[in-house]
Amino acid sequence: MHSAPLPMNTRERATRNGRTFWVPTLLRFALLCLVMLAVGAYYGFVVGVIWFGLSLVVLLFLQIWSLYRIEQWLDRPYGTPRPKTWGLWAHAATRLDIIRREDERSRVDMAEWLARFRQAMSLLPDGVVIVDSVMHLEWCNPAAERHLGLDKVRDEGRLLTNLIRAPEFVDYMLSGRFEQPLPFIHHYRKIQLQLISFDDRRQILVTHDVTQAEKLETLRRDFIANASHELRTPLTVINGFLEHALSTEMDQSTRHRQLDLMAEQGQRMQRLVADMLTLTRLESLTQQPSGETVRIVPMLNRILEQARALSEGRHLITLEAEAIDLKGNSDELESAFTNLLTNAVRYTPDGGSIQITWKIVGDGAALAVCDDGIGIAEEHLSRLTERFYRVDKTRSRVTQGTGLGLAIVKHVLLRHRGHLEIVSESGKGSCFSAVFQRSQLVLSEER
Ligand code: ADP
Repeated sequence: MHSAPLPMNTRERATRNGRTFWVPTLLRFALLCLVMLAVGAYYGFVVGVIWFGLSLVVLLFLQIWSLYRIEQWLDRPYGTPRPKTWGLWAHAATRLDIIRREDERSRVDMAEWLARFRQAMSLLPDGVVIVDSVMHLEWCNPAAERHLGLDKVRDEGRLLTNLIRAPEFVDYMLSGRFEQPLPFIHHYRKIQLQLISFDDRRQILVTHDVTQAEKLETLRRDFIANASHELRTPLTVINGFLEHALSTEMDQSTRHRQLDLMAEQGQRMQRLVADMLTLTRLESLTQQPSGETVRIVPMLNRILEQARALSEGRHLITLEAEAIDLKGNSDELESAFTNLLTNAVRYTPDGGSIQITWKIVGDGAALAVCDDGIGIAEEHLSRLTERFYRVDKTRSRVTQGTGLGLAIVKHVLLRHRGHLEIVSESGKGSCFSAVFQRSQLVLSEER
């Protein structure tokens, strides 16, 4: 049989080991023969042979004793010092010791590597399940436990198709066609899973939670559908007027009226697009707003003036503000507060009153805008900050609403570590409070 040539260093090592083994062995044997010859020459041939025989028996005993000690040493834990042995066994024990040390080192390395691998696997957001060729569970990471309701300790060695009995899962596992991932619903979460073979005896099942991505996709689709719908109405009105104007002769006053209506629809589209852009920009910003100090009292005075202008004297609007400033983005905060106040004006009938208060509340501070307007029935409260959600579509349109105001407020507050609280009763009025944490405040003594 032709054996592969040994690498140079291995061959060299084999030659050196052969030399260190044979040279002392032969020397010892030669010494024994020499002594036997000397004893024979001095005391006679028979004494020489007896001496030689006895020496061989002693040597044999020493070898067996050394072998016994090595045997015992091999049963002891790694790191136990090697026993004192004699002759040929001393050489073997030294080499065994080296091998044991190397083995121990690689065991430690392997254990460290395995611990690192397990840690990495447990931090993975995706699930990994290792099964044998007939689908018995061998190992899985915490994400897989969450995604599929498994328990690594309890379920080890059990058949995966017995642990997850959903028919689509069993069909997929038995189909043998794993090129496409399988969408799978588990505990109201949508999981995508795919089986990958990685050697003859094992397979990996990879799971990926797509619930959030699906939700975002649905939100995006709804947003586009709603936005198109919102834009279609004014566009249809404008187109209708234009067609009418092109096909018929009309007097000056009718033309003026129609142009006014077209301009109104154009402005409505402009407001919609501006609000959509604001919202998209807020959503795409991943960083918190810069920590510049925003002077809130002058800002509230400005907004109060705008609200009074919008109200045109139809409401009594009052402001009570403490000297508290906020860390954050001035434009974003102004847009959120303006939205709350213009809503109060728009949804409060003539003669109503609106109070704005900015003060310390509990551990933080709150800007509350309270009105005694039309109010909101309880069933709508939880959905008010959804995009394009309106309680009364007609009133919202008549008062130039886009249905995006409170969605913008919610995003601005989120970015400033705040939240929106709404208390309202149909027919009695509403209170919208933008609540901020203590960490966002700049109190007058801190300035
Ligand atoms: P819109 O542009 O339609 O006002 P918003 O997002 O600002 O959109 O508000 C969503 C809905 O919440 C409004 O359509 C309205 O029904 C309701 N709403 C908001 N503020 C008030 C308020 N102060 N009083 C009563 N209803 C309100």
